[in-house]
Amino acid sequence: MRQNLYYLILLCLFQFACKEPIAKEDFDLYSQPKTILATDGAAEFFYWEFEDSESIWEANTKELGGIVSFQDTLKLLLGPDRYAQVVQKEATQSYHPDSLLNISNGDKKNAMLTHTGTVGEIRPINALEAQILNYQLLKYNYIGHPTEFHGFIAFHAEQKKYRVYFAASDQPWPPKPNPLIKQLEEDIKNGWKLRYHLHNHYEPPSNDYLGILAPSMSDAQYFKMLAENYQVEQAKITNGIHTVVIDAADFPAFEAYE
Ligand SMILES: [Zn+2]
Repeated sequence: MRQNLYYLILLCLFQFACKEPIAKEDFDLYSQPKTILATDGAAEFFYWEFEDSESIWEANTKELGGIVSFQDTLKLLLGPDRYAQVVQKEATQSYHPDSLLNISNGDKKNAMLTHTGTVGEIRPINALEAQILNYQLLKYNYIGHPTEFHGFIAFHAEQKKYRVYFAASDQPWPPKPNPLIKQLEEDIKNGWKLRYHLHNHYEPPSNDYLGILAPSMSDAQYFKMLAENYQVEQAKITNGIHTVVIDAADFPAFEAYE
C-alpha cells in the first residue's frame, strides 16, 4: 500500500514535469554586479554588467512593481477606455503622411515622424528596458514624481557582455551624464562598443501622463552627437508601455537644435 502511494506520487511528479517544462531563466537586472561611478546628492551614476542572453531582448512579461503601479494608477486616473485609447494613440504608426504637412513646431513634427511610420519602430517595452525604468520608478513614482534617466548600453563582442550605464536623480531632468561618458570613453578603448542610448518620456497630467514616443528637438541634437562621437547604433525612448527604436542613420530626419 505504501509502495503504491510512492508510485502514485512519482507518477504525479513525472506528469507535472512533463506538462510544465522548466521555465527559461528570466533575466534579472537587479542581481547583476553594479559599479558605482559617482553620486551627487540624489543623483547617481553607475553601471550594471551582465552576460548577453535572449531573454533581455524579449517583450517584458515580469510584474515589475514600479511599472505595474504606474499602469494601474494611469488606468484609475483615465478610466479603462481612455487608458486604452491613450496607450494605442502613442503606439500607433499609421497616421496619414499628410499629418506631417504644415507643422511648424519641431517637437510636434518629430512626434508625427514616428506616428506616421516615416521613421523608427514602436514596439512593446522589452525586459531590459522595463527593468531599467522600473529601477527608477521604485524610487520615484512615475505619476506623482516623474523623473527622466539616461541609459547608455554598450556591448563587448569578445566577452559577450553588456553594460548599462545609468544616471538619474530626483529631478524631472536627468543629471548631466559626465561620469558615465568618462567611463564609457575609457571602456570604448578597451573593446566596448556603444550600441544604444535609452531614456524615458512622460507627460504632464494635462496631456494624460503617457510619454511621447519620439525625440524632442534636444533629444535629436543629443542623438546626433552620440552618433558622431561614439557611433551609437540606435536610440530608444520608452514610456513604460511601448518603446520607439530609431536607427542612427535616421537621426538626421528629425528636427534638432543646432
Ligand atoms: Zn527625451
